[in-house]
Amino acid sequence: MARCLIGCGSNLGKRREQLDRALELLRFMPGVELTAVSRFRETVPVGGPAAQGPFLNGACLIETELPPRAVLDMLAAVENTLQRDRSERWGPRTIDLDLLLYDDVVVDTAELTVPHPRMATRRFVLEPAAEIARDLPYPTGSCTVGDLLDNISDPHPFVTIVGVPGSGAAEVAAAVADATLSRLIHAPVPLPLTEGRPSAAFARWRQTLAEWSAALEGGRRGDDASHGLVADYWCGSLAAAAATGLDADESAAFRAEVAATQASVRAPTAAILLTVDAVTLEERIAFRSGGGRDHSTVFGDLQPTAVLCDTAGDTVPQLLALQQRLVRSLRCAGERCPSTPKAVVAVSGVDLARAAGEAIAAVEAML
Ligand code: ADP
Ligand code: MG
Repeated sequence: MARCLIGCGSNLGKRREQLDRALELLRFMPGVELTAVSRFRETVPVGGPAAQGPFLNGACLIETELPPRAVLDMLAAVENTLQRDRSERWGPRTIDLDLLLYDDVVVDTAELTVPHPRMATRRFVLEPAAEIARDLPYPTGSCTVGDLLDNISDPHPFVTIVGVPGSGAAEVAAAVADATLSRLIHAPVPLPLTEGRPSAAFARWRQTLAEWSAALEGGRRGDDASHGLVADYWCGSLAAAAATGLDADESAAFRAEVAATQASVRAPTAAILLTVDAVTLEERIAFRSGGGRDHSTVFGDLQPTAVLCDTAGDTVPQLLALQQRLVRSLRCAGERCPSTPKAVVAVSGVDLARAAGEAIAAVEAML
């Protein structure tokens, strides 16, 4: 038997009746036992079209022998019974049922992602979930549901936007800081890259680490101003990039230095992981090497001329390899160190306006 945590919400029609109906349908579903139900609470909608009504949100626990995909299909069947309209992303809905956790199973397919990819920053999910399942493990954060709620309850949240040069991290960070009235910390120096490859100069890596962490420390001193912090870089990216830029001994030594530095600075409350594809990176590199360079600061992190001297044509593959390392260091429990944020939300950086919207929604959901 697997234990599943389900998130429930409704902001259209008779909200409480529909939530009760959904729970009743789950209760009588063959092969499913409903074991706990949270209270419902009213929440303001986050993301999605403006002018939609407030949600009622709750959570429940079920035990079942159904595999994860069949649980998702069952939830969709219940949503369909209650006339769920899926025409508009994050639009108003009679009922929304999300598979948040399935034991400590991790699924990452086109149709289904478990743990639910946006749950770790959503207060409207975590509050009811913690009421009935505080100690349930959250495998991709190596913590529990209760830890996730405590994590986002920090009065001075610190959000980091993580991505390779050209992912749009600086642009998305600026949008998030603006929308959430947070202090913005910009990387004081770029990631040491040469022709897209990490630089082999050990001294440059140490210098970058020192400057990056000093800028975060400087930002933290303003904490009493009650605003959160948003940074467009993450010190862990240095460890990920150095692993391919330095020889094995130097890389191990440098990664130990990053870990020691990170232990003394504050871990981000949450990371927004911006991912891009090859075509997007090619376009953005061409933009920076061409006319865009003179009249715009957009994608300025691609500016170091070395990255643009794409003679070998391998800048893009190198950046994509670095991106994979970033994804691994943020998402896999195996490589996790204590300074890795518990809450990581992946957002596609291909369309910057959409990425900014999703990042803002992820951060606003914590508040
Ligand atoms: P949200 O999950 O942010 O509330 P939606 O309810 O609109 O947004 O879901 C968007 C899509 O996500 C659905 O089409 C659904 O098939 C898919 N999906 C992927 N993983 C999950 C999951 N764990 N639980 C629910 N839906 C999921
Ligand atoms: Mg859903």
